[in-house]
Amino acid sequence: MDFHGTKSKIVCTIGPASKSKKVLEKMVEAGMDVARLNMSHEDHKNAREAFETLRSIDDTLPIMFDLQGPKIRIGELEGRVDLVTGNEFVLSAEDFVGNEGRVSVSYKELPQDVKVGDIIALNDGIVRLRVKAIKKTDVVTEVTHGGPISSRKGVNVPGIKLSCTVPTEEDMRDLDLATELEPDLIALSFVTGCDEVQKLREIITANGPADAWIISKIEHTLAIKNFDEILRDSDGVMVARGDLGIEVPIEEVPILQRDLIRKANISAKPVIVATHMLESMTEELIPTRAEVSDVAHAIMERADAVMLSGETAVGMYPVESVQMMERIVRRTEETITREDPLEITSPQKMIVEIIGNMTYNAVTLIPDKIGGIITATRTGYTARWISKFRPPTDIFAVTPDVRVSRRLRLLWGAYPIRHDQHLDSVDDIVRESTKLVYDQGLVSKDKDIVFTSGVKMIPGRTNVVGVFHVKDLIK
Ligand code: PGA
Ligand code: MN
Repeated sequence: MDFHGTKSKIVCTIGPASKSKKVLEKMVEAGMDVARLNMSHEDHKNAREAFETLRSIDDTLPIMFDLQGPKIRIGELEGRVDLVTGNEFVLSAEDFVGNEGRVSVSYKELPQDVKVGDIIALNDGIVRLRVKAIKKTDVVTEVTHGGPISSRKGVNVPGIKLSCTVPTEEDMRDLDLATELEPDLIALSFVTGCDEVQKLREIITANGPADAWIISKIEHTLAIKNFDEILRDSDGVMVARGDLGIEVPIEEVPILQRDLIRKANISAKPVIVATHMLESMTEELIPTRAEVSDVAHAIMERADAVMLSGETAVGMYPVESVQMMERIVRRTEETITREDPLEITSPQKMIVEIIGNMTYNAVTLIPDKIGGIITATRTGYTARWISKFRPPTDIFAVTPDVRVSRRLRLLWGAYPIRHDQHLDSVDDIVRESTKLVYDQGLVSKDKDIVFTSGVKMIPGRTNVVGVFHVKDLIK
């Protein structure tokens, strides 16, 4: 009767260290719930191959396409360069091989978008520059924090609204590939406002995959400022701490993480905490205590999912990283504290949320008797409002649609199950769904289940919640 996955989900970035079928199979076995393809590092041929391999290994595994957005990089350098504090350094829109005095940048509008006094960060924020002057295609800066840079390192311009919007032209080409491959989730990098989320929605609605969940990556000061609207228009969010920690003072990151998770929970939108979670495992078998603690805290703060980046994409121990993540998640979630459902109820108090609340109450009032929650869900909407209360039992989301069942794997506590029968009455849905869960050995016959669904009379609305004895339904 064991539920083998964790309730909080594990997102793994796929890269050179994890593209082989063998490694991917082991990662699935170790507890990977979502595979992420980072389009900053994939050409279309590679992405297509990874897609095929993933789908052939596990057709129920959701794939996330992470669009790169306006990621600015410096161009080629003659080897490694050490920038010295106080020196002048030029970022240029022209193309050439750079040196310690100047380097080209991939974003040609940079000289128009920055002004004197702005800060520019290179190499994950290690090196900082201050703009002194703009001369045609050159941005002349003073190095305020020196350090090493090398070819193609990232460039951040904290707090500056670039004139290009997302999805960028490059993202549009990646979206053509998304039309073909139909990823389940699409992550939008460097989103700054809800208009950009709406634009992506229009594109995928017109070209497909229309039903993919849009995950907005919160990694820009404007995304913090406009968070409520971005959250409203997205299907989920990612606390993208890598770039966020450059865009805002680094000590703000944990506070933002806590607050963004909270808001996403209240709106019943899945939230992923990402970047540097087990960073040292790219080279070591054992993570630091601080990293273990970081993963555990994200779970305690009620994130839906935690993410591995370099650890699984380019690290030496991709499988071990997933195993370690799984151990930390599993142990921490055993201790997840109950929260008064009223405290996290959204102001709208929609019927579906009342159903989620009632489900939670039933499960927590008679914990020993309840073997699971079964929700018949056509779009996954109801499952989200049940998951948000973090009930201490499995949420079996029974759905006819393979794409819905895949997406739901991102959701905290959700265990999607597909059924292929067309059922009309609530009676039939309760009976058949419970049988499916029972037949898979996920609930025992001496337990009760809490069931939710809509009635046919009023389509598209969840309005029924009931408690049933499994034995009575499987006869
Ligand atoms: P990235 O996004 O890995 O695509 O940069 C995540 C982050 O910035 O944390
Ligand atoms: Mn990022």
